[in-house]
Amino acid sequence: MNKKTIIHASDKMALKLKALAKEKEDVRRNLVTTAKELALKAKALAVTAKKKEDIRRKLAVTAEKLRLKAKALAVIAKEKEDIRRKLAVTTEKLKESRDELARKEKLAAIGKLAGIMGHEIRNPLGVIRNSIYFLNMKFKESIDEKVKKHMDILETEIVAADKIISDVLEFARTKPPSLTEADINGVVETALSKASITETVKVQTDLGENLPTLNIDRAQIGQVFSNIISNAIEAMPEGGELRVTTSQTDSFISIAFKDTGVGIPKENIDKLFTPLFSTKTKGLGLGLSACQNIISAHQGKIEFESKENQGTIFTVTLPIHKNY
Ligand code: ADP
Ligand code: MG
Repeated sequence: MNKKTIIHASDKMALKLKALAKEKEDVRRNLVTTAKELALKAKALAVTAKKKEDIRRKLAVTAEKLRLKAKALAVIAKEKEDIRRKLAVTTEKLKESRDELARKEKLAAIGKLAGIMGHEIRNPLGVIRNSIYFLNMKFKESIDEKVKKHMDILETEIVAADKIISDVLEFARTKPPSLTEADINGVVETALSKASITETVKVQTDLGENLPTLNIDRAQIGQVFSNIISNAIEAMPEGGELRVTTSQTDSFISIAFKDTGVGIPKENIDKLFTPLFSTKTKGLGLGLSACQNIISAHQGKIEFESKENQGTIFTVTLPIHKNY
């Protein structure tokens, strides 16, 4: 190898080295750029993460606020429900006192009417009855069958009219109970024996044994039982069964009258104890109203349950001891 060749080779080497150095420098620069880019990306990611965390926190706060709001709403809803319930109770009470007032007004009007009927109608009825008696006596021998028949009709109708007046008067003049010791089964039996029970109605009694005596107005409670019994019989025009049960529960005695009659339609349930409410052509509609007055004067209760076309059960509950 001559000198020239050596120089040439070293030049070549130098060039190669230079090229290598440049390449290295490029790689370094690229690495720096990539590192910078990575750093930027990391920063950006950190920012995003922070934003995400902020959003998460805000969401948590909003969720908590929503939870509190839901709780508050639930409280308000409960308060509203309470108010609604109280309002319903008040409305019901209002309706009851309005009904009671209407009942009292009606009773006062009936009382007035009863007074008028007692004087102005009962007296002429008595006069007519006397005249019939006189005519019957006068023409006893000569009276013909047709006239006799009409005389009898007159008499029957006068008795019917007089009965209506008595019922109204009795109702209007219900006195405070005059209390005596009484055996309730005896009162039930007397009422049943007085009732005009149709042949097709079967009567069953299931009277509790060893019931304590009650301090009651025998006549008034007897009238209550009679009214309930006649209603039961009238509810069974095709016949049926009337079952009377007496029993004791704690400090109360119950007297139940169960019939297998026509029952009470839903629309009449609220009207039953209203004076003058009747579904009968010849009904006065005073019976149950009178019963209620008498039973409440005895600090008792009168209730009923009914199924249309199946029957009705009226239950009177009387306290064994009264609180005076
Ligand atoms: P009245 O017998 O003069 O109609 P009440 O006050 O005794 O008057 O009864 C009122 C109404 O209640 C009756 O007209 C009838 O419609 C109904 N009622 C009472 N008791 C019964 C019963 N046991 N079964 C069906 N309806 C009844
Ligand atoms: Mg009646």
